Amino acid sequence: MAQAEVERSIRDWDAPGIEAVSPGVHRVPLPLPGDALKAVNVYVIEDGDGLVLIDSGQYLSDARIGLERALATLGAGIGDVRDFLVTHVHRDHYTQAIALRREFGTRVSLGAGESVSIAAVQDPANAPISRQHKLLELCGAAPLIELLRHLAPNEGDALRGLFETPDAWLEDRVVVDLSSRALRVVSTPGHTRGHVVFYDEGAQLLFAGDHVLPHITPSIAFEPVPSENALGRYLASLSLVRNLPDARLLPAHGPVVPSVHARVDELVVHHEHRLDATFEAVAEGRHTPYEAAQGLRWTRRERPFETLDPMNQMLAVMETKVHLDLLAAQGRILQGISDGVLVFETLPVAGAS
Ligand SMILES: [Zn+2]
Repeated sequence: MAQAEVERSIRDWDAPGIEAVSPGVHRVPLPLPGDALKAVNVYVIEDGDGLVLIDSGQYLSDARIGLERALATLGAGIGDVRDFLVTHVHRDHYTQAIALRREFGTRVSLGAGESVSIAAVQDPANAPISRQHKLLELCGAAPLIELLRHLAPNEGDALRGLFETPDAWLEDRVVVDLSSRALRVVSTPGHTRGHVVFYDEGAQLLFAGDHVLPHITPSIAFEPVPSENALGRYLASLSLVRNLPDARLLPAHGPVVPSVHARVDELVVHHEHRLDATFEAVAEGRHTPYEAAQGLRWTRRERPFETLDPMNQMLAVMETKVHLDLLAAQGRILQGISDGVLVFETLPVAGAS
């Protein structure tokens, strides 16, 4: 492809349709509500007389129509889908699979580590809104809770019933033996605690879900039950895929790009810079995750915190918290709790009296 063509295909990755990425493997971008992520890729694998899909898209009539149209170009329909192999429990990956299972009996598999989140969502005492509010209180972000209270309940509530238990829990290192290829399940906790990627060594492809994305840095631990030191786990999971032989990156959001290794290296550098900037924020006297988030710049456009909408401010506070947690785990800062709020301090200077 000429350079201009390459750039266009990168920019238009979310245009509806179906793209052949490897013999027997197709990328199908499906729409999402809102414009933040634009779309989610579902990968269709032709396997014998059926189809296996990596991720499913969000339960949404436009997403179903998009999937039907894409499969029709292969002379197939949704009833030909034998398995959904889902990378993680987020709604844009999981909920359409469960809706289609109800209708077609399709098998749904999910990483075993997500069982904690599935159980939490199914627990009626554990409403998602109060869960997020508790976490924000812990981060010192009480003013933000007020802003979020005024937002209409989001579509997440309508999707809640779709977080059913999968047919199979995928364990780390298990090989999913298809007739056309073997997919190795690799547990990559971080984005969520039970995130998995599927590695196709024969075809040199990594179905990466949201673990490695080409243009954005995945959020960390935005999930019903956040894990301890989630950023530390995420970075360990990055080095795990960095240690596999290099492969083409088949992400859930964004275009297919040639090298997993190249993108992992960029993400590692990004988090190193982010850790340094977060340390500086604490050194300037910003002690809570909320205060530190306000001292940092956000998105690739380096936006001030105040210009983000409340939902993105919430994500920014949580992102800051995981960086603070890792700095504390590394012994670079001290962590304490004051009036139910996390507070972080730089270490006292040695020898000062
Ligand atoms: Zn996603």
